[in-house]
Amino acid sequence: GGFQSMGLSYPVYKGVMKKGYKVPTPIQRKTVPVILDGKDIVAMARTGSGKTAAFLVPMFEKLKAPQAQTGARALILTPTRELALQTMKFTKELGKFTGLKTALILGGDSMNVNVSMNLKLHNVEYVVFDEADRLFEMGFAEQLQEIIRRLPDTRQTLLFSATLPKLLVEFARAGLTEPVLIRL
Ligand code: AMP
Repeated sequence: GGFQSMGLSYPVYKGVMKKGYKVPTPIQRKTVPVILDGKDIVAMARTGSGKTAAFLVPMFEKLKAPQAQTGARALILTPTRELALQTMKFTKELGKFTGLKTALILGGDSMNVNVSMNLKLHNVEYVVFDEADRLFEMGFAEQLQEIIRRLPDTRQTLLFSATLPKLLVEFARAGLTEPVLIRL
């Protein structure tokens, strides 16, 4: 199965083609159909596996129906500014034909902390914890719990991580709904 057999809409498929991807990577082949099916997932995937497109492609599909409500509809959490910037750039490129808007929030100084505190999370439909093991290693457990607490129960939640330490398994148990575990 290639990207054309995944049932992607034209604006999403066009973004994939523009990036020059011929076939999905193994992690994309395993995760995209499950995510499109609406399931929560815990995916064990490393940088370089194509994990970013694995959660962006179904995200675009899920968000393509316009929504009149205010606030963010998807939230991607990353452990470092560098990765956040890179993921933002990738989201703009891959989602170029979707008409969706993206915004970047960096933590670290008081102004941005205020911005994130005021961010409306009650209409979020899709949440990604990217490099989740590193998010925990860097000591963001409390902030992640706080974010989870403010999200609607109806959301779809995805966790991508190279490793699955006990803390992360517990976090997934509490924050995800019957997640499908995907490994390569
Ligand atoms: P990531 O693991 O998300 O950091 O992606 C690693 C690299 O693989 C990035 O440069 C992506 O643009 C690239 N990539 C992602 N999916 C594909 C694909 N299906 N075919 C070729 N390259 C890809």
